[in-house]
Amino acid sequence: MMVRHSSRIYLSQSALQNNVNFLRKKIGPETRLSAVVKANAYGHGIPQLTRMLERCGVNRFSVASAHEAEEVHRNCSEDSSIMIMGILYDEDLEWAVSNGIEFYVYHFDRLEMVLEAARKTGRKALVHIEVETGTNRTGMSGRPFSKSLTFLKKHREHLQFQGLCTHLGGSESLSNEFKIRPQIRKFLDLVKIAEKRDIRPVYRHMACSAAAISYPETRLDLVRIGVALYGSWPSPDTYYQHLQASGKSKDAPLKRIITWKTDIMDIKLVSAGEFIGYGTAFQAMKEMKIAVLPLGYSNGYTRSLSNRGYVLIRGVKAPIVGLVNMNLFMVDVSHIPDVQVGDEVVLLGKQRNSVIRVSSFTQRTQLLNTEMLARLPSAIPREIVK
Ligand SMILES: *Cc1c(COP(=O)(O)O)cnc(C)c1O
Repeated sequence: MMVRHSSRIYLSQSALQNNVNFLRKKIGPETRLSAVVKANAYGHGIPQLTRMLERCGVNRFSVASAHEAEEVHRNCSEDSSIMIMGILYDEDLEWAVSNGIEFYVYHFDRLEMVLEAARKTGRKALVHIEVETGTNRTGMSGRPFSKSLTFLKKHREHLQFQGLCTHLGGSESLSNEFKIRPQIRKFLDLVKIAEKRDIRPVYRHMACSAAAISYPETRLDLVRIGVALYGSWPSPDTYYQHLQASGKSKDAPLKRIITWKTDIMDIKLVSAGEFIGYGTAFQAMKEMKIAVLPLGYSNGYTRSLSNRGYVLIRGVKAPIVGLVNMNLFMVDVSHIPDVQVGDEVVLLGKQRNSVIRVSSFTQRTQLLNTEMLARLPSAIPREIVK
């Protein structure tokens, strides 16, 4: 028997299907969709999301590291593909090549090592050349790019030119358009250079969720979609651009797939004048009934929601009183009749007619939606529901 964890996560298959359908329609039939499942699938859980996405017909996955690739690989089916967009250490190259895992190459020197790994393992390496277009993270340009093309052509029996790619620096904000447009032009110029030399990648790709929604010309052969799959808009700008493009004044095509719940651990009465929890962060001004919840910031519940956030109990908002501790926090339930130990508590998601959105969580803090989600510990049990 497994003992019970202090909270639990439910993942909606139908909400995910809805998001996949919306995104597929948006990007059109010519463009492939790679699901970005880095950061434990933005906190949702790699094992669960891999399975759920495959049920939606998605069989391409993108991750930030070889370590994450390994977790997807353990959970995905034989014919799914995995692409590492970030760190792959030298010593793991052979593992990647022998398992048919695709990866970014952003230094010319890397190609020599990749070639060696391909020869050694007897498998063709699936290489994505990442180019620099203005984000100034990883990516090559100029002579190393040109040399890489020559190298790929020369060694094409061992190296497959699987992709030519870049990443845009801030496509979710309209105010960055001055920066994004030149990046798009620069990337398309580099694509032309490769094509002119008759060295064609299988996939040209540059778009994340925001770019795929707001800049149709970035969709090309493949898009790398993270945040939108999980049901969040990359930003208000992206949402308004969608409304404009669709000619609607109201539309909610993305659905949150996560619900996060716990239960009441204890209930007690606090007299007027008493302080609740550590220090003097909250003083009861009248007699209060409070509920103690069995999780805190070590369980992914944002500490900056101290005295500011709320949870749902019996469909009613219960405000946080005092500080969110490492493993506990308290909420005011004075206004909720019949509340009992063991009652279900919704931390994120819907209960009766009330809802706590990821954004209502993060608007009160300095956190990004994706940051809040990505912090959910992998130890929380996750269940796939309809
Ligand atoms: C995280 C990431 C994405 C996905 O971004 P979203 O905004 O979540 O869609 C795409 N490409 C790269 C290189 C990334 O690191």
